[in-house]
Amino acid sequence: MQTFAVHPFEAAENAQAIRQDLRAFLAEHQPQDDPVRRANCWTEFDPAFSKALGAAGYIGMLWPENYGGHERGPLERYIVLEELLAAGAPVGAHWIADRQTGPLLLRYGTEGQREKYLPGFAAGTMYACIGLSEPGSGSDLASVRTSARRTDNGWVINGQKVWTTGAHISHAMLALVRSEEGSERQAGLSQFLIDLDLPGVTIRPIIDMFGTHHFNEVFFEDVEIPHGALVGAEGEGWKQATAELALERSGPERYLSSHALLVELIDSAGPDAPPEVVATVGRLVSEMWTLRQMSMSVAAKLAGGEDPAVEASIVKDLGNTFEQELPLAIQAVVDADLADDTVLAKLLATLLQVSPSFSLRGGTREILRGIIARGLGLR
Ligand SMILES: Cc1cc2nc3c(=O)[nH]c(=O)nc-3n(C[C@H](O)[C@H](O)[C@H](O)COP(=O)(O)OP(=O)(O)OC[C@H]3O[C@@H](n4cnc5c(N)ncnc54)[C@H](O)[C@@H]3O)c2cc1C
Repeated sequence: MQTFAVHPFEAAENAQAIRQDLRAFLAEHQPQDDPVRRANCWTEFDPAFSKALGAAGYIGMLWPENYGGHERGPLERYIVLEELLAAGAPVGAHWIADRQTGPLLLRYGTEGQREKYLPGFAAGTMYACIGLSEPGSGSDLASVRTSARRTDNGWVINGQKVWTTGAHISHAMLALVRSEEGSERQAGLSQFLIDLDLPGVTIRPIIDMFGTHHFNEVFFEDVEIPHGALVGAEGEGWKQATAELALERSGPERYLSSHALLVELIDSAGPDAPPEVVATVGRLVSEMWTLRQMSMSVAAKLAGGEDPAVEASIVKDLGNTFEQELPLAIQAVVDADLADDTVLAKLLATLLQVSPSFSLRGGTREILRGIIARGLGLR
């Protein structure tokens, strides 16, 4: 049984200075266009913003300097993420490379892979996407069928991924594929970093119910990749991919996607807010604060080399629940017509429509609860 513990953490000593510097950066570089883009902002792609953020040293903050990183501490990075999300900055283009693909390459990648990708990731000019889900392989990830067959020159990839966020702007996909013919379930899977400009790769947009293009279908037809595209050990893909999920599930994006709406509620309500608004704000902020403590505790564990899969799943499940409840709780206490031209109404309408997906992306609520139960020895 895995232990479950949320420990207090030491905030970074220079937290206030980091916040001030970042706020000055945002005042200069954050686009002031459509306020709705501030909601769910870690899926908003803005390559110019990512490039400016990279140049200022806010991407790849933990990575070694020789790969373009900045060798800062994990809790310093946490503060940066928190500020970016709280401000609703459009961080989607580089988000996955910074959060997941870069750290995975530092843990399992070859020297060649690190040199090829990490400097571009840290500069905010190269992006990566996650190739896990396939038609018929979502929650049941161990049923992936996309295959890699070994050749003299490397591997040939065939198959299809789906719901791939950002594939259309990404340079590479970190894909989980079946590298051993005839293998079943978790065995015989490997991870490959596949350049998406290779012949045989087709990326087709999927338009979500909000009318926007964030995710895609990606088809691989006899795509030839070199030996050097294998990440980590052949056949160890399941272990590597699941280790990566703790990075994906526990960050501040799991409770700050809807933050722009909460801030707008407070700003628009002003000092004479009605009691029901005050009570709702108080409750939401206290829940958010608890989630923050839990998420930072997981960040500290990850930084200490632990694999807090259960804690990360709890943060994501509670964070998703909070973020889905937030627009409903606000709708119940404000007198806003969703067709109104106010920022509050626009943010509310947006989050009411997009928040149902929060408990699907990154692993569904039911699957997370199964992981938590198993981790606590209940199944
Ligand atoms: C906005 C968004 C972005 C995404 N981005 C990516 C991405 O970049 N890369 C990527 O690989 N994938 C991505 N996904 C896909 C996401 O990971 C899957 O949608 C998710 O894992 C669920 O898989 P599925 O859609 O096939 O649903 P299914 O697995 O078919 O599940 C359908 C429902 O059945 C429930 N269910 C399934 N199995 C069980 C079980 N054993 N016990 C109890 N309940 C169960 C699920 O919880 C769910 O409610 C994204 C999804 C969304 C919504």
